[in-house]
Amino acid sequence: MIECANCETAQFLQITRSRVYFEADELLREIDERYECTLCGATGSYTYTGTDNEVDPDASATVAGGVTLTRRKPEHA
Ligand SMILES: [Zn+2]
Repeated sequence: MIECANCETAQFLQITRSRVYFEADELLREIDERYECTLCGATGSYTYTGTDNEVDPDASATVAGGVTLTRRKPEHA
């Protein structure tokens, strides 16, 4: 999941832009999302390209700016 790298939580993240691109056969090709943390004002982006790993899209994703990509968190908060 995406977290604010500064606040270390996703609680205040808002998606400010989201684009999804598909190939002609409707295979998911690219995701481009922009995030803003409403708590600290940090912004960042999440980009996913390719179709090699549909089970775990995050594995093919990169993040930039003030957000970070974290693996699954424990069930309890
Ligand atoms: Zn933040």
